[in-house]
Amino acid sequence: MHHRLSVVVATPAHSGIRGPLSYRSESALPPGTLVRVPLGKREVLGVVWDAGSAAETPAAVTEKPIAGVLAGLTPLAGAWRQLVDFAASYYQRGVGEVALAALPPQLRDLDTTQLARRLQRKPAAATVSSAPGPAPALTEQQHAVLAHMRTASGPFLLFGATGSGKTEVYLQAVQGVLDTNPQAQALVMVPEINLTPQLMARFIERFGDAQVVAMHSGLTPAQRLRSWLAAHAGTARIVLGTRMAVFASLPGLRLIVVDEEHDPSYKQQEGARYSARDLAVLRGRLEHAQVLLGSATPSLESWQASETGRYQRLEMPARIGAGALPQVRLVDMNLQPPRTLLAPALLEAIETRIARGEQSLLFLNRRGYAPVLACTACDWKSDCPHCSTFRVFHKIDRTLRCHHCGYTERVPRACPACGNVDIAPVGRGTEQLEEQIAALLAQVQRPGDATGDAARPVRVARMDADTTRAKGALEAQLAQVHAGDVDVLVGTQMVTKGHDFRRITLVAAINPDTALFSSDFRAPERLFALLMQAAGRAGRDAAQAGHSEMWVQTWNPTHPLFAALRRHDYPAFAATQLAERQQAGMPPFAFQALVRAEARTQAAAQAFLNAARDAGQALDTTGQVVMYAAVPMSVQRIANVERAQLLVESASRPALQRFLLAWQETLHALREPGLLRWAVDVDPLSV
Ligand code: ADP
Ligand code: ZN
Ligand code: ZN
Repeated sequence: MHHRLSVVVATPAHSGIRGPLSYRSESALPPGTLVRVPLGKREVLGVVWDAGSAAETPAAVTEKPIAGVLAGLTPLAGAWRQLVDFAASYYQRGVGEVALAALPPQLRDLDTTQLARRLQRKPAAATVSSAPGPAPALTEQQHAVLAHMRTASGPFLLFGATGSGKTEVYLQAVQGVLDTNPQAQALVMVPEINLTPQLMARFIERFGDAQVVAMHSGLTPAQRLRSWLAAHAGTARIVLGTRMAVFASLPGLRLIVVDEEHDPSYKQQEGARYSARDLAVLRGRLEHAQVLLGSATPSLESWQASETGRYQRLEMPARIGAGALPQVRLVDMNLQPPRTLLAPALLEAIETRIARGEQSLLFLNRRGYAPVLACTACDWKSDCPHCSTFRVFHKIDRTLRCHHCGYTERVPRACPACGNVDIAPVGRGTEQLEEQIAALLAQVQRPGDATGDAARPVRVARMDADTTRAKGALEAQLAQVHAGDVDVLVGTQMVTKGHDFRRITLVAAINPDTALFSSDFRAPERLFALLMQAAGRAGRDAAQAGHSEMWVQTWNPTHPLFAALRRHDYPAFAATQLAERQQAGMPPFAFQALVRAEARTQAAAQAFLNAARDAGQALDTTGQVVMYAAVPMSVQRIANVERAQLLVESASRPALQRFLLAWQETLHALREPGLLRWAVDVDPLSV
């Protein structure tokens, strides 16, 4: 007797196959079993999704037999499959696509013997679970938060100031669940790979390295498989990772922590465009695991949920050691001499830090030397021939580089349009900031210190995507800052995230204004979070917190965002933003989806979207869904591909979901000459 199995495999998005495929098997296999199956001419990895019953529905002879079972692996749990099912349906993708993307790629390539060998590898002997460790005595507010978590079910939103000791709360919350039973597991997520080594070190120090595994895209395929197997088998009790870790197989999952829950990096930007933060909350519900979201500046979605009681808010307003948050100083750029890079008062404040042996951190959201190079005689500018953007001038290697498609050329000797030799940079990037600050501080000496070190010149360092590209470069640069070998650190917003710098007492935003006038309604929210996060880098050592400062150079000093920043008043900022959003019917009071199309011409991209809209209009029988006209995306052309988008909106999440589900088939059936690809982005973060 043959058994019919439905098996999900990774089918390409355009294949039209969204659900499981049927295969036959000699034996009944439980759902969640990993199998190899023939697909076309290939043999691929699949997961049994439903076990068919043998006797009543004999498999048709036309159904192909499975090719093999990955023996030795326990089937994936029902809750895991539910999570995948939900993610696929909510984010409008195929079940197999989501399921297979969530598994380590090496599982696809190993045969049964190779896999058996990996499974036999014993993990290093587990250290005794009573930690060696050095858990500090909790502060009163940390204690209160943990006590509350023991008596309630959540989801919890930990609203804690920068430096209030959120990480210690995570550590002890994890300890708490691991103590409940020997199978219990915890998942801890951070937004960026950069932040994993630091956090990993703290968890290993507390729990021993046999219990903790990492999961992020920076691992080798072999490391990823090892982490995944350890989590799946339950030998790893703690998984620490980036957004992909939300899909880790964790049979004993009891707690999910999402650190910096507001961070846009939790949203996947290709394939299934899922929000790992939102899926964490759902997964917690499916598996009865606690969920703890932490941030000093929660997303307005989460904040609103904590206002209505959907999430429980836990607050830690005070910094550890009673350190004060830095004083915010606004510099009115309207009152400075023309073309001022650094206001004289800010420069003076930096010099004061240098004299005291303290560090300053300056950030500017643009890398390279200047965003544009322009001819002084004609209207030539350094556009990218393949994109609707300018190429950025990098002085270090005298190149013009497109940050969108990567197209790079040497800087021309003369204007390519008119031959004029006088072509000049317009605007500023981090390279220029570094160069000019070094020049401004060239005469300043850092005084010798008590240990007998002689006076020496001031050291300026830069940290951005260009200086940290090489493997290990970021770690090396961070170590220099921690060791005090840098007096002034210049960078992009990369330098503002998460780092526990001890000697920084001055942070400055050089030119943050563009976000105030962005067409994206979330731009102010992101700017406020960035500035608060940056401010959080200053005065983390309580002894110096009293004179720590956050400087903001702005042409709009009366903007209400800055008034809230001055008072470190996130709740006030959130209240004004939410009132505006409610009035305008925008998230979190409405729900959105975008369809993005890429085509040879802008007309083709828009024609596809408008045809989709016309077809969609007929499906929305209740009138709860609004569709806007197709528009070009803000960067309209990248690498010679034209891009357009269509916004769909509803005040009801279920209505939007029903509509998208019904619309799916129409979208797949539409044909438009010149159309290259399209995708749906549910709950998009930038519109
Ligand atoms: P956050 O994540 O909220 O910004 P951290 O967790 O980085 O804050 O904590 C700030 C600093 O305070 C860290 O150096 C941490 O080691 C220290 N710390 C945290 N909790 C305690 C405590 N209970 N007692 C002493 N120091 C603590
Ligand atoms: Zn010219
Ligand atoms: Zn380009």
